[in-house]
Amino acid sequence: MINTKDRVLALDIGGTNTRLGLVGRDGSLVGYRRLKSSLWNKKDPMKGLVELIKEYLSEESPQGVAALSLGFPGAVDKGLRTLVNVPTIPSLDGMPVADLLEAALRTPVYLDRDVVTLYAHAAQALALPKQGMTLCFFIGTGIGNLIVLDGRPWTGQRGVAGELGHIPLYGKDLPCGCGQVGCAELYAAGHALVRMRSEHFPGEDPDLLFPLHLNHPAVQEFLDTLAQVIATEMVILDPDRALLGGGIIQMPEFPLQLLQDKVVARLRGGQAPGMTWHLAPDAQRAGVIGAGLNAFDRMDREAGQ
Ligand SMILES: [Zn+2]
Repeated sequence: MINTKDRVLALDIGGTNTRLGLVGRDGSLVGYRRLKSSLWNKKDPMKGLVELIKEYLSEESPQGVAALSLGFPGAVDKGLRTLVNVPTIPSLDGMPVADLLEAALRTPVYLDRDVVTLYAHAAQALALPKQGMTLCFFIGTGIGNLIVLDGRPWTGQRGVAGELGHIPLYGKDLPCGCGQVGCAELYAAGHALVRMRSEHFPGEDPDLLFPLHLNHPAVQEFLDTLAQVIATEMVILDPDRALLGGGIIQMPEFPLQLLQDKVVARLRGGQAPGMTWHLAPDAQRAGVIGAGLNAFDRMDREAGQ
């Protein structure tokens, strides 16, 4: 029987759904559950989260777990203890979630941005080399971006590095959830496709966008904008590899090669020799498994210090 202390309770917290399960060091997952986030985050999210975890552990792992690991779709402070800005659960902004959970549940807690957990999953699943620089672009409703240097996320002085979705686009002025206007992710991610559909293809199945309308000027403009945003970071950082993923990239017949070609066309001197492209595996459970793997990685680093 597996010692439950060899497992981490990992939570992938999304605006709509929360996914959780027990993750082993090898990325194995048991006790997977998916529930609506509104079941715990409506009134008092902190209290709801504690109750959710207590109930889950009493049913699935009464002997406890090595740690709790949570991935949030937003910004986390440099110390990885406090949520800075989570647009989908604003009442948690500024909340020292890791300290509060540790006090309530008496178990070590690891907190991170969901892009870090998605990278952790992809890095293991694809056996990505750690050395050098990996740039991650997860294109969903917004743009999840992560700069990874020698296997470690580059978080910046305040922990908010790599917010590529929130660079300003010239001449654009739609208001963004981050408090700014004209942010890139409003024009180069799911937000833009929702507007495009209601303007050009109302009532149509969203899955038909790329199969039917790839050459439509609005679709080409979208791809050009996305390529320009990705190229911006690649021109600055000259990475060893790029990891693409997220719900938009996984849409039926998404033109991945065309997007890469459009990016490379904007790079100085074209694609660097040896630079490689990777596609993150599409998995409902990637965020949960990645959160678990990220906690083991951070525990190992702490133990090594
Ligand atoms: Zn923004």
